[in-house]
Amino acid sequence: MTLSAKDQELVDAATAAIKSRYRNDWQEVGAAVRTRSGRLVTGVNLDAYVGRGAVCAEAVAIGRALTEDGDQGIETIVAVRHPKPGEPGDIAVVSPCGACRELIHDYDAKARVIVPTGADGPDVTQIGDLLPNKYRRGMT
Ligand SMILES: [Zn+2]
Repeated sequence: MTLSAKDQELVDAATAAIKSRYRNDWQEVGAAVRTRSGRLVTGVNLDAYVGRGAVCAEAVAIGRALTEDGDQGIETIVAVRHPKPGEPGDIAVVSPCGACRELIHDYDAKARVIVPTGADGPDVTQIGDLLPNKYRRGMT
């Protein structure tokens, strides 16, 4: 599947973000989110000596979007990973980790997510399709 121009723009923004901020072992993933208000916001991951202090690029992008423009919802989000020095391949779309799937769903249950699919290149799916039986507090 070929991404739409808008979705490709998001991939390109995430790619530009990690290209400009890449540091081996510290910043390796870039993300871009398009809010439902139309704003495009990027982020890069924050790795940490104490692993549990690390923050994913998607969370940084969502946090920036929320800080700058309030909670406008997530229309589409994507993350891309920069290869390590000497690692073959180029910057490529990666799936959100489990924690990010929860986070994305919490902030917009209808968010679109650009995911890698293999030979055909990236594709678009819904966050709900990436997170069956999502965690819920209580019975609601
Ligand atoms: Zn994550």
